[in-house]
Amino acid sequence: MQEKGTISIHTENIFPIIKKFLYSDNEIFLRELVSNAVDATQKLKRLASLGQYSGDASNLRVEVSVDKEAKTITISDNGIGMTAEEIKKYINQIAFSGATEFMEKFKEAKDANEIIGRFGLGFYSAFMVADRVEIQTLSYQDGAEPAYWVCDGSTEFEIGEGILEERGTEITLHVNAESEEFLEKGKLQQILDKYCKFLPVPIKFGANEQEEEDGVDEEGKTKYKTIEVDNIINDTNPIWTKAPNELKDEDYLKFYKELYPFSEDPLFWIHLNVDYPFNLTGVLYFPKIKNDFDTQRNKIKLFSRQVFITDEVKDIVPEFLMLLHGVIDSPDIPLNVSRSFLQADSNVKKINTYITKKVADKLAELFKADRKAYEEKWTDIGLFVKYGLVSEDKFYDKAKDFVLLTNTAKENYTLSEYKDKVEATQTDKDGQLIYLYTNDPAKQDSFIQSANKKGYDILQMDSPIDNHFISHLEQKLEKTSLKRVDADVADKLIKKDITLETVLTEEQSTKVKEIFDSAISKPAYKVELESLSPEELPVTVTMDEFMRRMKDMAAMGGGM
Ligand code: ADP
Ligand code: MG
Repeated sequence: MQEKGTISIHTENIFPIIKKFLYSDNEIFLRELVSNAVDATQKLKRLASLGQYSGDASNLRVEVSVDKEAKTITISDNGIGMTAEEIKKYINQIAFSGATEFMEKFKEAKDANEIIGRFGLGFYSAFMVADRVEIQTLSYQDGAEPAYWVCDGSTEFEIGEGILEERGTEITLHVNAESEEFLEKGKLQQILDKYCKFLPVPIKFGANEQEEEDGVDEEGKTKYKTIEVDNIINDTNPIWTKAPNELKDEDYLKFYKELYPFSEDPLFWIHLNVDYPFNLTGVLYFPKIKNDFDTQRNKIKLFSRQVFITDEVKDIVPEFLMLLHGVIDSPDIPLNVSRSFLQADSNVKKINTYITKKVADKLAELFKADRKAYEEKWTDIGLFVKYGLVSEDKFYDKAKDFVLLTNTAKENYTLSEYKDKVEATQTDKDGQLIYLYTNDPAKQDSFIQSANKKGYDILQMDSPIDNHFISHLEQKLEKTSLKRVDADVADKLIKKDITLETVLTEEQSTKVKEIFDSAISKPAYKVELESLSPEELPVTVTMDEFMRRMKDMAAMGGGM
């Protein structure tokens, strides 16, 4: 007996709107339907483990197949199935109430992009690519009757007796004319790879392919033979679901290669695992940094219960860690909301803080455990660390113990070690510590030589982040300022045990100085006669540090 009914939503014309605005992301239909199938098998597993199902709960699986001739895609599972009553309840009411909610959000949203891809349309997303959807299902419950449901994308549906003899659900999409690309095996494989690669139940992807055979049939048509192509597309036990102590370095490296086949090995990784106050697992890798930052960004994949959601993790991962690679899996990140909501979400904020702390702890641990190895990686790590400590105070508080200053002799010092090193020689009369640095060792070579000669140490600060790093250190370090090596500060420092020999008589010196002073008449510059055995640099021209910074700023076009 067939029964007819009407789905109770207020808007009759919702399908064209959804199709239009979700078009760019309509591939998520497969993610949603496969997730539902996986959920159904997981529910069965749970019932069995609770003793509420005594049938065979082994060999749970999901199967996706495509029939190009019939223009159908079928997703089937041997999960809990549904009774006719359940279809009415879960598919008709719940799924479609989701559609009503979508319409509400759609009306509120200023920008269609705010909702695209973020809105879990669930079962209903099937209608983005199909103009008819059929369900055949048989519930696990004793004495359940198979049920059938079909809907053509209007608000009308039909429900009746089904044909399944085995427990589970089979959903068939009659793919619409605009979506025929999804009938391509390669396309489906690609979508499954993207979203379903790490789902916890084996997913078999079988495409019945028609292959031309020699000869023709009785009616004179080309003969085809059907070949079964099937494979399990997923790894049901990805490493982030395992306990860190079960894993070896090889496992992490292998997984990295699986995610980023053509990348160099990462420097190190962090296994995230927290269940309170939010749930989160994942593995974050520190890659070798290349110069093209942009292509390296957005490499972190966000999952929710092993279903891929997005690689836009902007608000979840702190900005300074956007160059990291890896995966984060959290059922507690709201996915069905707009970006502005995500920023305000308290779980998202906590997750962000947690990741920052984990990264800081890991770096501290690496530094402590093997300083030499840490220093070897410093060129790559340094960028994250400096970026992190200038952008987040909480990170600075930890990073101040493992951020390294590198001098022109390529020696690395922690902040406190460096202070100890230069305190005696580089303090001025007012007790201010002066750190000298170069941002262009080649150009400033004469100043570096001259300062070294006087016994001063020069820090190398020539990475893109170092300008910010310098100002930040000045704010954070007590009674310390950083001056570029060509600034006129060196003579203000208290020199200890340094006597510079000169070959010039006092009279000669005065003369030479006069010549230089008149040649360089700008008040910002200062001429100094130094050392001066004939083979060395006899004169340096320095500039007031304040004037220099003003000049740099003007050159950059930035006013104050
Ligand atoms: P959600 O998955 O968020 O609950 P959906 O719209 O995806 O929302 O699905 C609605 C409901 O339909 C599910 O909660 C489930 O009860 C039922 N359902 C969908 N697909 C299946 C399936 N393959 N097997 C059993 N039940 C299903
Ligand atoms: Mg769902």
